[in-house]
Amino acid sequence: MTQDAIRIEGLFKTYKGAKGQPEKQALKGIDLSIPRGSVFGLLGPNGAGKSTLINILAGLVLKTSGKVSIWGFDQDTNPRQSRASIGVMPQELNLDPFFSPRGALEVQAGLYGVPKSERRSDEILRMVGLEDKAEAYARTLSGGMQRRLLLGKALVHRPNILVLDEPTAGVDIELRQMLWTNIRKLNEQGMTIILTTHYLEEAEEMCDEIAIINSGEVVVRDSTKNLLGRLDAKTMVVHPDAAVETLPQGDGIESELRSDGAVLLRYRVGATSAEQVLAAVHEAGITIRDVKTEEADLEDVFLSLTSSQ
Ligand code: ADP
Ligand code: MG
Repeated sequence: MTQDAIRIEGLFKTYKGAKGQPEKQALKGIDLSIPRGSVFGLLGPNGAGKSTLINILAGLVLKTSGKVSIWGFDQDTNPRQSRASIGVMPQELNLDPFFSPRGALEVQAGLYGVPKSERRSDEILRMVGLEDKAEAYARTLSGGMQRRLLLGKALVHRPNILVLDEPTAGVDIELRQMLWTNIRKLNEQGMTIILTTHYLEEAEEMCDEIAIINSGEVVVRDSTKNLLGRLDAKTMVVHPDAAVETLPQGDGIESELRSDGAVLLRYRVGATSAEQVLAAVHEAGITIRDVKTEEADLEDVFLSLTSSQ
């Protein structure tokens, strides 16, 4: 029997409120298994509970109840092995400002009990492109460099599972490409990758499987391919002849004016015909210069699953 990389059963987390604040139920009974070898995406809007889930996996946040096993090790009965199996790149920049990149990697290796002879700080610094900055104080590193160092720190103990919490939020294109390349390479070498993102494009591009989390619950979990095929949603893009004054309206049609002046119309193939959509466009007094349709993308799936709550 092949084991999962991660197995989560009935996971709850309630944060105690700060003084005068109510408590917050951040996770409401998560069941989730993540297969070994995959690139798995955890998607969800801000406040959905993604970081809470990841920080519980990382041992940084205590769960309220439920079972978590990491690489087959129960987190409660085998805390050391389960912790050794996972490396986490956190969402927040939390580096000690007085350590250099090399120093930070060495300290991290020490924390995980990696013997000196097995440390590979130079290799990691090269991989994340920080060999030139090896001896600089962390506080002198740019935000992007700090992110790269956090990735390096997550790798010092050669974990079987690498978890990245919003790795590319707010980073420039170059760093994003670098992270994606590294993630792919590590996955090809056999590492299981779990990443959270609210960039749907990133999940579509990187992940084999996806779970969407909303308000502390998993609302869907499927292969990226199935998820994309799941909705019969279509988008029609109408380029009008003149500036649009009234947006088309109709049952089952959502319309939106794009900044370039085009009108986006979302509808379900099963419920609304293209003709009905076009009729609504005409009724709004819009003359069509050009029109095309697009298949559902992850964004449509995501909106349809998270907007009703
Ligand atoms: P996400 O990473 O998906 O944006 P989080 O896991 O950070 O979501 O947060 C989930 C919910 O828990 C949010 O409502 C957030 O405000 C709350 N929360 C997160 N951390 C704490 C904390 N330390 N104390 C109290 N509430 C928290
Ligand atoms: Mg988060």
